[in-house]
Amino acid sequence: MPLPVRASGRMTADETQSRITILRGQTLGFRGDPCTVGPDAAVDFDSDGAVAIAGGKIVAVGRALDLIARHPDALLESYPDHLIMAGFIDSHVHYPQIDIIASWGEQLLQWLNKYTYPAEAKCADPAHAEATAHRFLDECLRNGITTASVYCTAHPTSVDAFCAAAQSRAFCMAAGKVMMDRNAPDAVKDTAQSGYEQSKALIARWHGVDRLTYAVTPRFAVTSSPAQLEAAGALWREHPTTLMQTHLSEHPSEIAWVKELHPGAPDYLGIYERHGLLGRGANFGHAIHLTAREAARLREAGAGLSHCPTSNLFIGSGLFDMRAARQGDAPILVGLATDVGGGSSFSMLATMKAAYEVGQLKGYSLHPADAFHLATVGGARVLQLGHRVGNLAAGFDADIVVLDLRSRPLIAQRMQQADSLWDALFIQMILADDRAVRATFVAGRKVYDRPIAA
Ligand SMILES: [Zn+2]
Repeated sequence: MPLPVRASGRMTADETQSRITILRGQTLGFRGDPCTVGPDAAVDFDSDGAVAIAGGKIVAVGRALDLIARHPDALLESYPDHLIMAGFIDSHVHYPQIDIIASWGEQLLQWLNKYTYPAEAKCADPAHAEATAHRFLDECLRNGITTASVYCTAHPTSVDAFCAAAQSRAFCMAAGKVMMDRNAPDAVKDTAQSGYEQSKALIARWHGVDRLTYAVTPRFAVTSSPAQLEAAGALWREHPTTLMQTHLSEHPSEIAWVKELHPGAPDYLGIYERHGLLGRGANFGHAIHLTAREAARLREAGAGLSHCPTSNLFIGSGLFDMRAARQGDAPILVGLATDVGGGSSFSMLATMKAAYEVGQLKGYSLHPADAFHLATVGGARVLQLGHRVGNLAAGFDADIVVLDLRSRPLIAQRMQQADSLWDALFIQMILADDRAVRATFVAGRKVYDRPIAA
């Protein structure tokens, strides 16, 4: 099995020097949101484009011949028949659950008890957490994911292990310690007080360090008491540049239980709102069964949603209403997410495919421009990182994926009939997977290079 090239450590001054590398191929970036300006006006596409990178940044994007002429001494890497675009952003994923992906037969609440909590309990062991974190990051690279918003476990060791692993490989990642003080086994629980104190110490240790962002992470309103949600709200208020991530309205049985546990709240979102957990930088996973009030409040607050379609199908949670979330002049911020291990794939291409299929079942055909936008710019905006990652443009961090547009015989055959950019991108999101990832760059360094034989 091909292994990603592991970066040996933090970028050194040597490695961030100014020698320019030019990647040549078909380039795709976004200058607008396809939902508001339409697909054609939203994209910057060049069939013979190039990206110049140096010092971990994108210094220019343009016509290949122009950039090569402008930088005659640059290292040139050519990728004919490949698409060069921003690395994918997975806006909701649980790294400790990599070992329970594809576990049979349960819906959400039973899934958590039977598979999730036992797997998460193991992350109390720092060596297990560290090994798991590196395997998770390897899998991200293999799939062209360069940024993710990551749930660790209730153990501070799980956050230290993940952040140290991500930092050592120069990733831009958001992560946080799961806070959960009830309705779960002791091995994965904290308390309102310890959850607050441990999270505070982790924020001091990791938030804003190199390319890391801390996310205050109460798991959801089932496993956090009102006292813990209040503590999480206080923590977020005290550290306003951190993110906040949690689960919202995922499964009907969960929603019914939440109603019992938090009597008097207007609805599920209202519980978070009451404890200061709604606002810009909040990232709600799933949000499938929203009331009109909840959708309106999310929109007004500038909060983000993470759509996790493979997970929603796999766990049997329901069908997210993309049209309702994205309609109007001010669409709700939405990112695409794998939600591994509830999700069944690390591939953001497979995730786009599932998002399309969920849309079809809701009478809405997700356009490929929108799918690729959600999987990059959309996720970056949910994570408040839209100025740094998620797009192929000068000034952005050089987190880049190179996709082979003919990664399998069936795809190569089908591409012969592709008569537009949208056709080509749609074929990729429906048929391609991790085998299409030719190379992944993190902070300007190629850290995954698919062997030609693969
Ligand atoms: Zn989740």
